[in-house]
Amino acid sequence: MLSKEEFINNTKIGKIVARKCTKCGHLHLVTTYFCQNCGNKGFENVIVDGKGTVATYTIITVPPDGYEKSVPYAWVVMQVDNSELRISGFMEHITSPADLPLGTKVKITGHDEHGIIIEKQ
Ligand SMILES: [Zn+2]
Repeated sequence: MLSKEEFINNTKIGKIVARKCTKCGHLHLVTTYFCQNCGNKGFENVIVDGKGTVATYTIITVPPDGYEKSVPYAWVVMQVDNSELRISGFMEHITSPADLPLGTKVKITGHDEHGIIIEKQ
């Protein structure tokens, strides 16, 4: 099993814990009972480097409660290097698409009450 605490503790050191299918190797970010790729039921935890590229993002200028001091920020979907995993987190001080072209190299740098923190590499 993969606990939320274990997942968060790894993001704090720039790592991602994923569930790897023991049959086909497909990675999953959350605990699932069946592999989404092949239907196998066996998994093992693997640690993946929290680095990748920007796949897509949304710039938030009107914050939800609790994010006021971070705006404008981007909610970023990162394509993790050398895997099919996508993971999302937030990046502070992004005001326009010119600040963050798609494909920009980024990395996980921490975790706070809002979630995963992503910064440019
Ligand atoms: Zn599988």
